[in-house]
Amino acid sequence: MKLLLKQFSLLLFVIFVFTGCSKQENTKPKNIIIFIGDGMGYNHVDATSYYEYGELGLQVYESFPIKLGMSTFMVGGEVYKPDSAWTNFKYILKKPTDSAASGTALATGTKTYKARLSVDTLGNILQTVLDFAETIGKSTGVVTTVPFSNATPAAFVAHNASRYQYKEIAKEMIMDSKVDVIMGGGHPFYNPDGTPIKSINERFVGEKEAYDMVVGDSSALKNEEKIFNYVGGKNTWDALKNGEAGSDADNDGINDPWQLIENREMFQKYAKGETPKRVIGIFKSGQSTQVERDDSLDDGMPFSAPLNDQVPTLTEMTLSTINILSKNPNGFVMMSEGGAIDWVAHHNQLHRTIEEQIDFNKAIEATCKWVEENSSWDETLIIVTADHETGYLLGPGSNVKVNDSDVDLWKPIGNNGKGKLPSVEWFSKDHTNSLVPFYAKGAGSILFQESIKGNDDVKGSYIDNTDVGNVVKLLLK
Ligand SMILES: [Zn+2]
Repeated sequence: MKLLLKQFSLLLFVIFVFTGCSKQENTKPKNIIIFIGDGMGYNHVDATSYYEYGELGLQVYESFPIKLGMSTFMVGGEVYKPDSAWTNFKYILKKPTDSAASGTALATGTKTYKARLSVDTLGNILQTVLDFAETIGKSTGVVTTVPFSNATPAAFVAHNASRYQYKEIAKEMIMDSKVDVIMGGGHPFYNPDGTPIKSINERFVGEKEAYDMVVGDSSALKNEEKIFNYVGGKNTWDALKNGEAGSDADNDGINDPWQLIENREMFQKYAKGETPKRVIGIFKSGQSTQVERDDSLDDGMPFSAPLNDQVPTLTEMTLSTINILSKNPNGFVMMSEGGAIDWVAHHNQLHRTIEEQIDFNKAIEATCKWVEENSSWDETLIIVTADHETGYLLGPGSNVKVNDSDVDLWKPIGNNGKGKLPSVEWFSKDHTNSLVPFYAKGAGSILFQESIKGNDDVKGSYIDNTDVGNVVKLLLK
């Protein structure tokens, strides 16, 4: 059945190409840019829209021609059933996916167990869309606002039975993979709040580490190894610093070492003009760009705590990645993640969720502008979606039945106007199996419309997270 669908889609594709159909959605993309808001549900977008604009529907991706829902369940989880999701309030709380299993589905088109990174349920290595793009001569990259060896970027590049093997994952990304750009956090010599560490023992202590929710096996490591965990161990870090770390990324038999950048100015500089071929950007935070920054002035409103200005924005990292990758005449495939939407949603912090969502929204706006000024929608495809929803974010008073005849257990969030926090209620501190939004624009985007898996009474037609990996692979073939 799956094969039949693929062949059917391929046939459609061939028809589009050879009939000279001019609609941009039907052409084969040269470049593919996948944006993933980690933990971003419909209401994370809407809450941010109310704060930013005082109304809904104005985000740049909300006017993309392809707008669908997407299911995110994992193997061993609860399959999304629209009828159950909207009749039983607790249904979508049952065994939700994690970022590794969903990242694997998005990156490879195959579902797997929780915590696995592009390894299937039998332990076989799965080819990611980036792995495949490299085999056809495209450039590839991953960008995130959290440590680059975290689940979502790792799922696009590394293959490991456990997402918590940070050291091995980072090592695979740096020393074995053929990707051309990696950008993210996890700097060994900076605290999560962006201050330089005073000693090796300082880095992994303190309340801020609560945000590093699952440290996995790093508790067993000595402190001097711990600080290098996210970057692949001390030897890998030393090799990066010496300009020796790398692999033969372009298959010419010669090692292509990474150019390491750490200063925000370098991330900004590489957004234009000449750049090295292969760049790894590790910004100056032991964790994310902004989540753990000094919050002594935080009054509960977005941006009341001054931003850490020593680290790049997601926009800066995304634009520099695009500039580096777009030098390849064969095109590129990349993933850019708003990685900390999830982290603050786990803590049910609305104002911080809005901050992280705005950072993500701006990166997509800037990338759309790049497409229009430097490429076109006939050769570039942009996908915007999430790996799962975090926090079961709804309007206040949801799940309260006044009369037996009431069916409206899921209330919309309340608009309090531009610049004001909307009225919300969180119903979980974990992930949910809710549908997440999916948007696509540009070359080949019509194929997602061909992948619809079902219809949801509330959210409409939806695809599955595996369709992202499968359609992208099909478009690259
Ligand atoms: Zn999460």
